[in-house]
Amino acid sequence: MAAGSIGRAMGPGERSAGAGTAPGKGEVLRRVLRPLRPLVRSLRRSTTGRRLVGARSRVAASGVALTFDDGPHPRYTHEVLDVLAGAGVHATFFVVGRNVRHHRATIDRIVEEGHALASHSMTHTDPWDLSTLELWRDYRAGHLELCTALGRDVRLFRPPKGYVDRRGALAIRAARLQTYIWSLDAADWEPTLRPDEVVERLGTPDLGDIILLHDAIEGSLHPAALDRSAMTRVPHFAESFRPI
Ligand SMILES: [Zn+2]
Repeated sequence: MAAGSIGRAMGPGERSAGAGTAPGKGEVLRRVLRPLRPLVRSLRRSTTGRRLVGARSRVAASGVALTFDDGPHPRYTHEVLDVLAGAGVHATFFVVGRNVRHHRATIDRIVEEGHALASHSMTHTDPWDLSTLELWRDYRAGHLELCTALGRDVRLFRPPKGYVDRRGALAIRAARLQTYIWSLDAADWEPTLRPDEVVERLGTPDLGDIILLHDAIEGSLHPAALDRSAMTRVPHFAESFRPI
């Protein structure tokens, strides 16, 4: 999806101001704002999940991207990996830096089994509680923790709670991360949700959908909600799910 530009598009008549003609007010404003366009585009892309998903869904256009947030967890991530291995399906894990530091063996298994990894901040603090500088520090630290564990650079990033305001957008841009949200959310973090209900909520995903699930839940763990064994009953699960 093409990003929007500032204001309305210029018409042919507006573009053809003759040489020597003093520029009108509108033209002066456009000239002043032109250098800011990339920043504004970035802010727009980063403030609406739908735009982000639209921009990135080409990657998953031939399948459905399955993503798991908040891990790695020494127990639940392995249960998820068992389900994925049984179904012959790959996913993308958005991992929290401090969990990466403590559970390297789980990261190693994710890599060995062919899944993708991306960062999900260092501490998973609610983004609306932090300043731009604090956000930048936290996002950058999470990114570096993952890069250190993998021995390579990974720019793909998902902010905690999928929340991005202008401060977050600036922090993400300053950390040179590439934001990726989701298109389908079963809200599997709800403590009373049964595995079957997660599957029910997902329905039949469309090609290009990006599904959000969790292999750990920051803040409080609800083991019942983290049983992913029912995932194999999602229609076309084995055929279409692929990593980002
Ligand atoms: Zn999260």
